[in-house]
Amino acid sequence: MIVGIDLGTTHSLVACLNEDGPKLIPNSLGETLTPSVIGLDEKGKLLIGRIAQEYMVTAPDRCVAMFKRQMGTEWKWGVDQTVFTAVELSAIILKTLKGEAEEYLGEAVTEAVITVPAYFNEHQRTDTIRAGEIAGLKVTRIVNEPTAAALAYGLQEQDQERILLVYDLGGGTFDVSIVDQLDDALEIRSSAGETFLGGEDFTSTLASRVLESQGMVYEHVEMKEPERLSRLRRECEIAKRQLSSKSSFTVRVPDENGEISDNNPKFEITQEQFSKWTSHLLGRAELPLRKALGDAGLKRGDIDEVILVGGATRMPTVVSRIVEIFGKEPLRRINPDEVVALGAAVQAGLIDRHESVDDMVVTDVAPFTLGVETTRELAGDYHPGYFMPIINRNTTIPVSRAQTVETLHPNQTEVKVAIYQGENRKTDQNLFLGEFKVKNIPRGPAGQEIEIRFTYDLNGVLEVEAMVLETKDKFQHVVTRYARGMNQQQVNQAIQAMAELKTHPREESLNRYLLKRSERLYSELPLIEREHLDIILRGFEEALEIQDDELIARHRSVLQEYVDRFDFQDGEDDPQPEQSDEW
Ligand code: AMP
Repeated sequence: MIVGIDLGTTHSLVACLNEDGPKLIPNSLGETLTPSVIGLDEKGKLLIGRIAQEYMVTAPDRCVAMFKRQMGTEWKWGVDQTVFTAVELSAIILKTLKGEAEEYLGEAVTEAVITVPAYFNEHQRTDTIRAGEIAGLKVTRIVNEPTAAALAYGLQEQDQERILLVYDLGGGTFDVSIVDQLDDALEIRSSAGETFLGGEDFTSTLASRVLESQGMVYEHVEMKEPERLSRLRRECEIAKRQLSSKSSFTVRVPDENGEISDNNPKFEITQEQFSKWTSHLLGRAELPLRKALGDAGLKRGDIDEVILVGGATRMPTVVSRIVEIFGKEPLRRINPDEVVALGAAVQAGLIDRHESVDDMVVTDVAPFTLGVETTRELAGDYHPGYFMPIINRNTTIPVSRAQTVETLHPNQTEVKVAIYQGENRKTDQNLFLGEFKVKNIPRGPAGQEIEIRFTYDLNGVLEVEAMVLETKDKFQHVVTRYARGMNQQQVNQAIQAMAELKTHPREESLNRYLLKRSERLYSELPLIEREHLDIILRGFEEALEIQDDELIARHRSVLQEYVDRFDFQDGEDDPQPEQSDEW
């Protein structure tokens, strides 16, 4: 079975397709959203997901989040002697989801469709495939997140003829795609986006304003008092979510050790204020919107429906801005946190030729322009470094396009073909993908013609063929996502390293999660309640110490009940979208 995975900046999900449609697979805590957070505890054991998120509040220097933003870069994160790249951290999340899916389905899961922001470049896509390989998954297809969302809507709402605009504001990235739906056929007409704009930026802005109100500066606190910042970000995350349904909310400002007590200062924020403070972020989303409309040759009024994707679209300010721009209420019929993973499962079903999706067809576009470097003659001087596009962004894929270049000098027998991706005039601002040489060009005057053909397929394989027109000699170079970055030996080493990482056994993980959550709750409770919680906690710790399963289960249920009653979780009181039960 091929599963669909949404590898998100803040959360990741796994789903599969069965006869009734796509279905989300719950993790060992029974939740479908696994936080993309990883920690390493003092004993050198890995903490993954919700437990790492809890641990992060009190031990921010031992935990890492938002590493998806570092895909495609050389960035590394380390604690003690252990160092991870963004690829390895992503692999840990993927391996965890793979394990959860295997447990749930009762069979081995070896293949996956993984979603990425439409605006991810080739290096970021390659890194995602590598992460899959290290996690023991063959990545059957990389799918753009808004395309996946359109697939989920397309399957649920067939027999429609409409132009959809997918507005995808996740934790860390913003994407917009325009999709033509004609019954079961979905044609992506254009995509645009920003890889550094998401809900987390709204949280950071809020935290920054709160600190400002106390005479502090965000960056300074981040460096000098990480515990304070980590706890404050959690408070602001809760506030942000609460402000999606309430008109005001009070944030408690933690002290320098990250502790919160009744004596700490409080700061009240209104929904209106929050919208004003973050309006510059929403403004940044408008350039990609205009770009996508322009590339599709459409105007705002041509859009029939706007689909909301990503948890951050729950903010009322997003909805009202969309109403202002498009003059209509956006759709949120499928949960915006889940729709990408559900769509990934639909894509997995399409590849698997699953009968429940056998009538569907989807086409996508190349998100960036692809081309070669050229040299220009300007007033008698030669200037290299200019970009010559061959496949323009938002061309439907698969596609094959050719352009002719000429030799610059008399008797020139070689030409270097350097391949780039990007939208800039000069190649040094675009992404280098590879190069090769065309040789044995017949001697003669300048202006010998060479045809360069680019063929780009659905799996992101770019075949570049250069043909010397006079001799018909051909030279070929293939840029695959597999050719870059780590070689097979390095991947094998990473797989081995992954196998050696120590994690907590499943059952122990549940207990540790509850302990971490209770300890964090303890620090937030009024004194009188603390004593009560301390008594319950002690019973649970004793049971864990004795390792008596029955005793552990009994104490756990008492503690769980207490924590559920008092803990103010981020998701609480979230306005739930109208959901269809058909999934
Ligand atoms: P995703 O990557 O789709 O999981 O998006 C997660 C982002 O959505 C995070 O930045 C969350 O803080 C944000 N988010 C989730 N629920 C809400 C809500 N009710 N109000 C505002 N933001 C939310």
